[in-house]
Amino acid sequence: MPEPVQYRGMTLLVPDNESEWREFYAHARAHRLVVRKCAACGLLRYPPSHACPWCVDLGWTWQEVSGRGTIYSYEIVVHAIQPGFKELAPYPVVLVELDEQRGRPTPDEALRVIGDLVTPDLRPAAEADVAIGRRVRVIFQDLAEHLALPQFTLTDEPPAGRVWRLPE
Ligand SMILES: [Zn+2]
Repeated sequence: MPEPVQYRGMTLLVPDNESEWREFYAHARAHRLVVRKCAACGLLRYPPSHACPWCVDLGWTWQEVSGRGTIYSYEIVVHAIQPGFKELAPYPVVLVELDEQRGRPTPDEALRVIGDLVTPDLRPAAEADVAIGRRVRVIFQDLAEHLALPQFTLTDEPPAGRVWRLPE
């Protein structure tokens, strides 16, 4: 059993029998973002569920992805539930549509990964910088020798479509 990790006053433990997330976080610690690829239809999926959500096949392999994508949606955490996050609030959480499978299998169902939007030194990004349509890349927050969290940070790539956010 791996050592529990202390993070912001909380104990993080990914048990040995949690094979899906253990491997995902181990890849993240090596600074690789991986998702599952269906052996039958070839579509990528996240989170790493047992069966393909589109064709229900049970075969899969890990597939490394670029971690580059577009903010599909976001939220601002104003009142943190966990005490350890209170000093970070307000902070943005983003749902990122990855480039590898943009708009597939349908425009409404694509490969999307959730994470915090952070600065390159892993502080929360400014609320005013968050917008749907902005370009991001993955950045890894190392927590222990066997565990890192994929987060996202803004890039200066031009957006492909409309950029918008809730008005202040
Ligand atoms: Zn499939």
